[in-house]
Amino acid sequence: MPFQSRFTQLPSDFYQFNAPEPMQDAHLVAVNEALRTQLGLTLKDEALLALTSGQLTHPQLAELGLRPLAQKYTGHQFGYYNPHLGDGRGVLLGEWQAPDGKVWDLHLKGAGRTRFSRNGDGRAVLRSSIREFLASEALYGLGVPTTRALAIATSDEMVQREILEPRATLLRLTPTHIRFGHFEWAARQSATARDALLGYVIDHYFPEAQGQSLKHQAWYFLHSVCQRTARLIAHWQAVGFNHGVMNSDNMSILGETFDFGPYAFFDDFQIGFVCNHSDTDGRYAYSEQPLIGHFNCALLADALGAYLSEDEQKKALESYVDEYNRVALAQMLVKLGLAEPPKERNQPEAEVQKGDRALVADVFIMMDQQRVDHSLFFRRLAWLGTEREPELMALLAEPDAFADWFESLQQRISEAGLSQTDWQARIRAANPSIVLRSYIAQEIIDAAEKGDYAPLTQWTQALQRPFDDHPELAEYQQPPKPAQKSMVLSCSS
Ligand code: AMP
Ligand code: MG
Repeated sequence: MPFQSRFTQLPSDFYQFNAPEPMQDAHLVAVNEALRTQLGLTLKDEALLALTSGQLTHPQLAELGLRPLAQKYTGHQFGYYNPHLGDGRGVLLGEWQAPDGKVWDLHLKGAGRTRFSRNGDGRAVLRSSIREFLASEALYGLGVPTTRALAIATSDEMVQREILEPRATLLRLTPTHIRFGHFEWAARQSATARDALLGYVIDHYFPEAQGQSLKHQAWYFLHSVCQRTARLIAHWQAVGFNHGVMNSDNMSILGETFDFGPYAFFDDFQIGFVCNHSDTDGRYAYSEQPLIGHFNCALLADALGAYLSEDEQKKALESYVDEYNRVALAQMLVKLGLAEPPKERNQPEAEVQKGDRALVADVFIMMDQQRVDHSLFFRRLAWLGTEREPELMALLAEPDAFADWFESLQQRISEAGLSQTDWQARIRAANPSIVLRSYIAQEIIDAAEKGDYAPLTQWTQALQRPFDDHPELAEYQQPPKPAQKSMVLSCSS
């Protein structure tokens, strides 16, 4: 079996060996078949269940080449440094090498208590596991970098949150679980830890910089992470994704969406939207996400301060701003059908014309003022000037206020030399027909808690192909009712 435990190459203060706590009488709720195929994971369901529910004993895991461990990291939570963080309810089982040679972390979330659990129970619940499973596949389908979810298991065991909820475990996959917070910890720990971590991430995730001086490697790493993070957040802003808890321990060094708590995709567009009801100051509001990305990159730069001068750190952070501004505009021009949807959705290129910035800014301002449904607005733009135009206008409280903007858009389309049919095709290729609204996720969870996993399977497959028409989900392609929009999400997971 091509399993391994590479993370143990790091000094032993980076982790604590920790076997998962078995979940009794467990069964699989969801298996991501697309991902299983992509990774060439030949495990049968029985073995996958044993792995996902923590049933394999330490010797059995060791025989496979897996040495489960809890990672030590720290981080800034809501602006304040917390030295006591680490994997408190998850363990890294080990890594899997796919047939294409790529290596993936297998992380079991909800695996029980570890030395970093503090007062927590080390458990995860079915609700939050399903929310993570769905969101990571929804972002993946949209082309947004994200960790993936391979499987969920559940049992009759109940866990106390605001109410009693069924326990579950989630098998999460990504090339690495190393966070900004690992660097924040290593910088404070010792020069040995710092150098070891930098060397490790260069060797395994940024091999282009191998053989260079530590200073050059630190620069290359910081600059790359700034660029990736900028592109990630520009993409979130375009697809209307609100992360909710952008603490630096939830920031991946690969620039992937990482750790799903009280996230939300927009129903109505609202610039100041705060999806996490514990975030009373709106620190992680939609409008703040790009700035918080920059703040987190500054924390990473600071953690690399032993290698880089203040000027060098500043230069890397400026590259974040430039890349964010460039990509955020390009993403919006793609959404408006004014640039080709790129193959690598995270790397859009757009020829920017004079007036494009204003065109994008104006639509955001009006959508905010009129609280326009985010995903339906962009998808239905394709009906502008067709017999279905009234269905676009029905989304607007005051369509007249949009008249000039629609005219500028039409003019820009004709200046680009695009036919109406080509433009409409671009709109449909760039804007999803379905979106993971909070009420839809809740419907799927309610069904699952009653033992009906069919909606979960159906939506997982649909969200992996969000740009298709999906007529089978027509009832979810209408504006949500007021009661469906008022979901309150908490951090508890
Ligand atoms: P999160 O809010 O998921 O980013 O978690 C923040 C920190 O709290 C991390 O160190 C987690 O490991 C820890 N944590 C969250 N939930 C639990 C739990 N139920 N039991 C133990 N530790 C937890
Ligand atoms: Mg976290």
